[in-house]
Amino acid sequence: MLQPGVLLDRDGILNPDVGYPHRVEDAVLFPDAAPALRMLQQAGFSLAVVSNQSGVARGYFGADDLRAFNASLAEQLTAQDVAISVEQFFVCTHAPAEGCGCRKPRPGLIHQAADRLQLDLRRSILIGDRESDIQAGHGAGLRTVLVDRHGSAGPTSADWICRTLIEAATKITRDSSASTPMAHQIRGEFLESAGLRLSAAQIQRLWSLSASECHEVVGELVATGFLRRTSDGNFVRRA
Ligand SMILES: [Mg+2]
Ligand SMILES: [Zn+2]
Repeated sequence: MLQPGVLLDRDGILNPDVGYPHRVEDAVLFPDAAPALRMLQQAGFSLAVVSNQSGVARGYFGADDLRAFNASLAEQLTAQDVAISVEQFFVCTHAPAEGCGCRKPRPGLIHQAADRLQLDLRRSILIGDRESDIQAGHGAGLRTVLVDRHGSAGPTSADWICRTLIEAATKITRDSSASTPMAHQIRGEFLESAGLRLSAAQIQRLWSLSASECHEVVGELVATGFLRRTSDGNFVRRA
């Protein structure tokens, strides 16, 4: 069965982005990395790292350095009870000019991870610190979180913006309890019972709504006068 996944950028998300980090001494986790990944894993998400590493093609470091760096991060995470191996790190080593399909903002790495780890992309989430990460996520149909640790990110198309990885994990796990097929089915039945006729495409769309998006939909229906809130907190169709 396909699992929901959280796909994480590496540099700037798990470890500081010191500019083509590749020396094992620079493979230092942010303090919130292991707790955040543990939280996501406990909520049922498979984990994958998706990382552009053009430093290989540029000749700044070798594929062995890259693998040793990733293995060091994986070991440190494992030591803090995150079940992750270096096989869950997916990297593009190409230069921009090579025009490969795996360099973000293209979605190739995400598809590689999804194939290998049997991920359900409709229920998966991308976490990155650059707009190119976010675009790759959207290209693969994922919801996206921009982690802006320094409050310095420019304009973004991300669905959510957080200041830390732990804040992102908290938001995702809180939302995911409302993203189960059962929750979606209940919402669909609720809307139908309220007299909304839904096309197959609309039902499909409903299934990919997060809890916050669902609140938005209900909010709109209230704002447009289709629904009203009762004193006990339920919503009923306006007569
Ligand atoms: Mg990054
Ligand atoms: Zn590539």
